[in-house]
Amino acid sequence: ANYYNSETVLWLNGEFVKASEAKMDFYSQSLHYGYAVFEGIRSYKTASGETKIFKAEEHYDRLRNSALSMNMPYTWSNEELIEATYEVLRRNNFQDAYIRPVVYAPMNMSFVQNEVSYIFIEVWEMAPFFGDKLLRIMTSSFQRPNPKAFKITAKASGHYVNSILASQEAKTKGYDEALLTDMNGFAAEGVGANFFYEKDGKLFTPATGNILPGITRATVLELCNELGIEVEEKQITLDEINEADAAFFCGTAAEVIGWESFNDVKFKKNWKETASRKIQQAYLARVTEAEVLTEVIAE
Ligand code: PMP
Repeated sequence: ANYYNSETVLWLNGEFVKASEAKMDFYSQSLHYGYAVFEGIRSYKTASGETKIFKAEEHYDRLRNSALSMNMPYTWSNEELIEATYEVLRRNNFQDAYIRPVVYAPMNMSFVQNEVSYIFIEVWEMAPFFGDKLLRIMTSSFQRPNPKAFKITAKASGHYVNSILASQEAKTKGYDEALLTDMNGFAAEGVGANFFYEKDGKLFTPATGNILPGITRATVLELCNELGIEVEEKQITLDEINEADAAFFCGTAAEVIGWESFNDVKFKKNWKETASRKIQQAYLARVTEAEVLTEVIAE
């Protein structure tokens, strides 16, 4: 994939600069040790034709919380960053896009708290996914980072070494993606998405504590409430997933995407007849501000 070209513009510490001309410090705590925090946000072309960043406040609140929990100075307001993000989108002429802000740190081998942080916001085009593709999922041999070793509710760059290893393992073995367990062996989340399973029309998802509490997960919980679909947050064993009617990942990049099989066992229920698919359609309608999904598809 091409994330940028010679025309691409990013926002770097308050300035709009060409990606191909932007300078990064090779003497950086973030590059050497994975000590950075980031966000994954999306903008959509809405049903009325406007560009809208989905849950921008929630994402920039999480970026701040991630930075502060890593003891990184954070001097930016949401207002300033959201304005900069819309301007980066405008300058690149993007509507459906993935937005990647990163807060990073200068080199400091004594590991004392840094006095400054830096920030950039990159964007690349990403079309929303309206298809019925389903994923083949395996249980990863990697567990999620232990919450006693990392601040796992922060989106810290270093945590994603775990995600990369798990995803590579799954793809090498011929699967689409991995489900990771927590340090106690309970189902936790994907490499970059939360998960739900469905049984007898009711949805279940791991409780917070050993997962990144995703903004999409929160949106799914809201949609369940609105649509009258029962949902429960609880500790989940892998055996329960084996017995499920359906399952899906949800995340900013993944949106809501169903599973075809778990460890080579296909789910019993036809995806198109599940409550999960109703959630998928409602999610896509929500992010594009469409009344109903058919309006989105007709676009
Ligand atoms: N879990 C992990 C490990 C993630 O990286 C992500 C993506 N940020 C999620 C869950 C889903 O979070 P969100 O819905 O906020 O994108």
